[in-house]
Amino acid sequence: MNEETKSIHELDFKLICEYFSNLERQGPGSPEVTVKALSFVDGLTDESRIADIGCGTGGQTMVLAEHTPGRITGIDLFPSFIDLFNTNAGRLNLRDRVKGIVGSMDDLPFPPEEFDLIWSEGAIYNIGFARGLKEWRKFLKPGGYIAVSEASWFTEERPVEIDEFWKDAYPEIDTISHKVARMEKAGYIPVATFILPEDCWTEHFYEPQVSVQEKFLKKHPGNQAAEELIANQRHEAELYYRYKEDYGYVFYIGKTI
Ligand code: SAH
Repeated sequence: MNEETKSIHELDFKLICEYFSNLERQGPGSPEVTVKALSFVDGLTDESRIADIGCGTGGQTMVLAEHTPGRITGIDLFPSFIDLFNTNAGRLNLRDRVKGIVGSMDDLPFPPEEFDLIWSEGAIYNIGFARGLKEWRKFLKPGGYIAVSEASWFTEERPVEIDEFWKDAYPEIDTISHKVARMEKAGYIPVATFILPEDCWTEHFYEPQVSVQEKFLKKHPGNQAAEELIANQRHEAELYYRYKEDYGYVFYIGKTI
């Protein structure tokens, strides 16, 4: 990578962080869905250890903390998200049980069999569903649970436009039955799957972005990278509204043997 491309990438990186820091969530989801996914997880106690991988600023982590005993470690690559995460935990008086750390999901700094539950909403795609499930398994105790949400096809065939968009953005997107088979292959018993309702995308994700986008563009006038970022987000939202019958997010909950 030459110096010029590097600086462009660094700028993008800063802008992306700034943009998503203005949102409560960095991916589709809702408090109701977090609680529903948690309802499939048995046996958590005060002693339980939970990891939230790719936690972002912690929207879903704080919901988890309010509905589970035990201690939660959130981990994310972006330090500015983790700063906000720890501020949020403090604001909700959860500091004694909830802690955010900076780190990467492909090199997790945990001992084997550390966790009773691994959580990850809208983030495992960064390492890939199959690889993430396989590599994270060693951090779970026997009988431990994993709960991840992941982009999935609802249809066997779909219009070329959306098929190409996803094949470019995330080629590992697949049908629910194929994802479940992957989960079994990675050494988990599938416990439950459910489709995230539309409000996770609309009310909780795309709608809050509208005013954030306007403010963001006003703050960065004439900045091409900022304009491209917003154009991409808007395009992604339009595609969702047009093709939501064909794809969405699905929660996959599994258990180790
Ligand atoms: N779970 C949050 C954030 C989802 S967005 C929510 O549902 O709102 C995906 C998150 O993954 C972002 O916060 C991003 O910073 C993080 N991420 C991307 N690559 C990562 C990596 N290699 N290791 C850890 N986190 C990563």
